[in-house]
Amino acid sequence: MRERESEKIRLGVSACLLGAEVRYDGGHKKDAFLTDTLGPFVEWVPVCPEVEIGLGVPRDALRLAGDDAAPRLVVQKTGEDLTARMRRYAETKTRQLEALGLHGYVLKRASPSCGLFRVRVYRERGRPNGGRGLYADALVRRFPALPVEEDGRLGDAAIRENFIERVFAFARWRAFLEATPRPRDLLAFHAAQKFAILAHSPAHHATLGRLAAAPGSHTRDKLGAYGALFMEALAIRATRARHANVLQHFAGLLKRQLDAPSRAELAELIQDYRGGLVPLVVPLTLVRHHALRLGLTDLADQVYLNPHPKELMLRNHV
Ligand code: SF4
Repeated sequence: MRERESEKIRLGVSACLLGAEVRYDGGHKKDAFLTDTLGPFVEWVPVCPEVEIGLGVPRDALRLAGDDAAPRLVVQKTGEDLTARMRRYAETKTRQLEALGLHGYVLKRASPSCGLFRVRVYRERGRPNGGRGLYADALVRRFPALPVEEDGRLGDAAIRENFIERVFAFARWRAFLEATPRPRDLLAFHAAQKFAILAHSPAHHATLGRLAAAPGSHTRDKLGAYGALFMEALAIRATRARHANVLQHFAGLLKRQLDAPSRAELAELIQDYRGGLVPLVVPLTLVRHHALRLGLTDLADQVYLNPHPKELMLRNHV
């Protein structure tokens, strides 16, 4: 079975990041990478939890307070506790989002509702601890495999590339499931992703290979296990050394068809990449060029060589 081309990528997003003036002070936090660079490739599903629970714009600022493992959401000035209201809303909203089949989510950092990492939790005494916004917490609990990131962290080239890679991988996985896989289809899916997985985690690559090759791999339970592990693998940081090893695998598979100068050129570029002299896109482009020129479709079709739209230029910076 060929993978069905996924429909447009659908991402949930904190509404203020797209420029909606929904923040407590009546402002926004428009993020140019999201609106201008990523925007043409995605359909946004903007959500402002604080507005959707009925708070106005502008409004009194909220904060997290109490225990950082289970913080309360309170109005900073008055201490009014909005925890139950936000939890009820988050439960209903995330259930509604399930029907939309999101491929990822970008959350606003440091927000007591939307923040994903190290949101300040104020205690009666001492310095604030780090916790998670109440809406963000409900979101990641309901969708454990969904790629989710914060706007601030997306400024880091490696985190940005990893997030977008996971988003497109999740979209491919969903499209694969929607096409009702038959016996051995998972093996074909895995074969196309194997170098991408290897760049993140050789251990997951081995386990996923066994799952894909096992009898009954198209059954619901087995597919569920594969999907969870697949997304877990891609969330592991792909290091320069692992990328270089994957490129080395490609070089090994191309070796017989390449003449000596071409082999030497590829080896040198891989070495340059390993040493941090050139970005990943440089050796990758040469591998893709050779695979296409030589008609090696198994190699040219590897997702690793085209994990996301080249216009995003994400591998020019890692
Ligand atoms: S961070 Fe979340 S709750 Fe705050 S304004 Fe943005 S979308 Fe609304």
